[in-house]
Formats: sequence, structure tokens, C-alpha cells
Amino acid sequence: MTMSGTKVSGTKAIIERCQSLFDDLHFTAAREWKTAKSGRKVIGYMPIYVPREIIHAADMLPLGVLGGGDQLEVIHGDAYYQSYICRIPRSTIELGVSGRLDFVDGMMFPSICDVIRNLSGMWKMMFPDVYVRYFDVPQNYADDIGGSYYVGELAELRDDLGKLRGSPITDDELRNSIEVYNENRKMVGELYDFRAKTPWQAPAAEAYLVLRAGMVLPVEEHTALIADYLAAAKAEKRPMRDNCRIVLTSVFCEQPPLNLIKSLELAGCYVVDDDLLLVTRWLTEDVPTDGDPIQNLADAFLHHSESTAAKYEPNQAEKGQYLVRAVKRTGAEGVIFAAPSFCDPALLDRPMLQNVLSEANIPYIAFKYAENSGQMQPIREQAGTFADSIKLWSAA
Ligand code: SF4
Repeated sequence: MTMSGTKVSGTKAIIERCQSLFDDLHFTAAREWKTAKSGRKVIGYMPIYVPREIIHAADMLPLGVLGGGDQLEVIHGDAYYQSYICRIPRSTIELGVSGRLDFVDGMMFPSICDVIRNLSGMWKMMFPDVYVRYFDVPQNYADDIGGSYYVGELAELRDDLGKLRGSPITDDELRNSIEVYNENRKMVGELYDFRAKTPWQAPAAEAYLVLRAGMVLPVEEHTALIADYLAAAKAEKRPMRDNCRIVLTSVFCEQPPLNLIKSLELAGCYVVDDDLLLVTRWLTEDVPTDGDPIQNLADAFLHHSESTAAKYEPNQAEKGQYLVRAVKRTGAEGVIFAAPSFCDPALLDRPMLQNVLSEANIPYIAFKYAENSGQMQPIREQAGTFADSIKLWSAA
């Protein structure tokens, strides 16, 4: 795989490259992509889902903006939000006011919660020269209600980005982008399958960093990166630990610190599935590349998309079943709920999801974090005790 003209191979080299992309809060890779050709534009998006295909079809780079992590000191951002809420809006504001996103031509704010909704309005006032879109998705999955509404939203986004580019987005451009993202999702699926089968060969922190690189790299490059990582990870022999297997959930918006993900495995828990960076696998089937591309994207969202706590589930009997299915599919032995502090979408659903797991006799634990949580010892102790108890129960 070639990144910035350099051949990178072996898991160590690939992960070092991904780590440097992860650490770079000035988004140098995206800046370089933009300046490599005149007229290029970059559209930022926040978690958890936007149709990146439409941005790509406008020849623009979709850039995942996922807060400031544990390296960014939030100075100005604290003045805009209550100090007790989650950290991602405050650190995102910090990224904006400190000039780290000054090369971004547009920002999309998906409808995940009121915090992000408010951030979209604030962004409009703070950065009046930037295209800002609050991207609403349907809460009703009937084709003639939510479906037609969503087709309208997608068409509007397509028109807006066409105007920003200076020429309309054609159907063929959209079909090409759909194909490119189908390929990317396929490779992400292979990465997740590989980790679920042999988690010692693809540690959770590595899988995360590889996935996270896709937030800043062009999608074609990211697909190649995953393929190279998989080839390298399969070729290496790594020791298998006596860890239990868990599904990590509620981590779909504000990102947990990388050390938290590492700590879970060090404490004895292999992560075999998670809801991190769901934008990379929100759609669960290939989107058709024939017919009306906007209709196809809308149909995929309505009928072939990931169930999560972040998505409205009209059928109460279905509520939480995706977690039970994830446990069965991956052979997991338990679930860890790790939600950002004050995250309404994650924390309001948690009791219902826990009930579903209790009924299915699936053990779970729960804790909260912030993207800049530094003290991992309590989490390591909880996760370690959880892993030990799973082994004791399963041996009994
Ligand atoms: S972490 Fe939760 S509450 Fe905070 S912005 Fe994200 S979804 Fe909203």
C-alpha cells in the first residue's frame, strides 16, 4: 500500500502510520490532499452517520471530525457548553476556534442528539463562510413517509454540494462513489470478521486505529490500507491469551481514549465487536449501483442499516436484539457498556438494553468515560473482574 508515496507494510509500520494520523490534530493528511490539486474541497462530518458517497461524488474529501481526544486542551470550548456534558462538542469547538479546521469548506452535523444539533447552529454563527448542514435522518421507516422525506434530504445535499463544487453531481458520479464505498465496507467487514475469529491476531486498538485512518484518508486509500493490514496481520503469529470475548457498545459518538481500548484487552477482554466509527459500516448490505442512486442510498438507510442505540427502533420486540445477535455471531461471552458521560442516546437506552441481555443470560458491566479520561486503573479493575467472573461462571 502506498501512502504519501511510501510503501508501508507489516503491522508495525501500518499501525505507526495510523497512529500518526490519529495523533495529528492539524489534519495534515487532509490538508495535503486538498492542496495537491487546485479546487479541491473538504467536508467535515461528526459522528455517527452521513452519506459519504455524496461528498465523494462531488470530488470532495469527507473528513471525520471526532473531537479532540485526550491530547487537546480545551480552553475556549468550555465557554460554549455546560461543563458537565459530554466533551466532544467542546473539544470540536476548540478545534474550530484554534484554526485546526480552517481548511474545511463545509461541516455536517448528523441528527444524533440535541448537543450536536446545537453545535450545528453555533457553527453557522461562528464560521459564516463555511457550508454548514444539519443532516436529519428519518425516524419513520415507511417508504412513503420517512423514505420520501429522506430522498428529499439526500437530493438537497446533492444540490448543495454540486453548487459548492460549481457543477451538479451526476448520477454516474454517485454510482461510482457508491461502488467505492461498497468496497470499503466489504473490507471493513473482513477486518471485523477476522478480529472476531482471531482477536489475538488483530488487537482492538490496532483494528480501531486502522478504522480511524478512514476518517482522514481518501476512501480508496483506506480500503487499500485495510487490505494491507489484514494481509500483514494474517502473516504474523501472535500469542493467544486466555482472555474472554466481549462486545463493546455505546461508544458510537464521543470516542473512548485509545488507552481505554488497550486497557480492556490488557485486563483480559478481547473485543470481538463494537459500535465504534459506525459510519464505516452503517449500511449492512451493498448499495445497488444501477437505477436511481439517491433512491438506492435512501432504501439502504431505511432497510439495510445497523441497529444501534443511536437509531430509532419502532418495533419494541426488536429493541436490543442487535446486541444479542452480535454476541451470538461473534461467540462473545459478555457485553461492556462504555458510554461517554452525559450521553443521552447511550445512557437512556442502557437500562432497556441491559434488560434484554439479562433475559438472554448474557453478562454485562457498565461504566462511563470522557475522551480525555486519564485514569485507567478503575476501568482495568472492573474489566479484569468481569473477565474473571465470566471464566468462573462458564467453568461452573
Ligand atoms: S457523546 Fe452523546 S450526548 Fe454527546 S454529542 Fe455525542 S451523542 Fe450527543
